[in-house]
Amino acid sequence: MLNSKMRFWRIRLIFSLVAAMALTASADSQGNPWAEVKTPAKGAPRAIGDYSSGCLQGAQALPLNGVGYQVMHPSRRRYYGHPSLLDFIVGLGRAVREAGLEVVLLGDLSQPRGGRASGGHASHETGLDVDIWYWHPKQAEQRKLTQKERESIKARSILDGKTSSIKAKWASTVARLLRLTAEDPRVERVFVHPIIKRELCAQPSDDRTWLRKIRPWYGHDDHLHVRLACPEDSPDCVRQSAVPAGDGCDEIDWWFSEEAKSDRDKGRKRYQSKVTGGRKLPEKCFELLK
Ligand SMILES: [Zn+2]
Repeated sequence: MLNSKMRFWRIRLIFSLVAAMALTASADSQGNPWAEVKTPAKGAPRAIGDYSSGCLQGAQALPLNGVGYQVMHPSRRRYYGHPSLLDFIVGLGRAVREAGLEVVLLGDLSQPRGGRASGGHASHETGLDVDIWYWHPKQAEQRKLTQKERESIKARSILDGKTSSIKAKWASTVARLLRLTAEDPRVERVFVHPIIKRELCAQPSDDRTWLRKIRPWYGHDDHLHVRLACPEDSPDCVRQSAVPAGDGCDEIDWWFSEEAKSDRDKGRKRYQSKVTGGRKLPEKCFELLK
């Protein structure tokens, strides 16, 4: 009697352990399907949903080298985008060369079907965002970087921590690159570190209208983040609220205020709610994973 009871409990215990292990294993293998998918979804190019909660149909792969640009970290497969983003990048590379500026290195665009990237980003989900580094290693100007270099070299900040300003040798390059970017009509916003925006505001300029698109945001001291407006071919692309009128220089001081310093999280949320509403992934996106 005692024996059979013990056997019952032993079997029950083993069963529970196996069930628990199976649950853990399935949670691990589930992972993030957006990061695992290796090819674009078939069909016409469509940005679907919100920049921070969306996906991309009919993505195209950006060639890893082009005039004036090189793509970094190709193993992460984040060099896919809506064709208008690719077109913007190719055009910017040429404009960079024509302006006599040095090569730009590209960080993330989107994954083959967009969606959430593992680790880091809260956007780049619809194939309309791209990170562009300010700094590049010397050899990138002379030759194509090797695969090993692309995977291992990291972006560097262009800010001088001691003086809270852009390092002197970068000041003019950064302003020219940002202006070239913001003057493209497809570009809706360009996110930069608040210190960079403050310096642009302080510089005399013949035309200040492009400054409107230059938006201060946390981080972004080693890259600019370009966001295109929803393309006309994408009716399910969720537009952001319009960038406020004016050059935005009157609100830059807030970023250096006691409020911003003492309550960074609150500020982040408040600003984020202006930029995006934290929406659910649209049903159409789940279809892209089938
Ligand atoms: Zn970015």
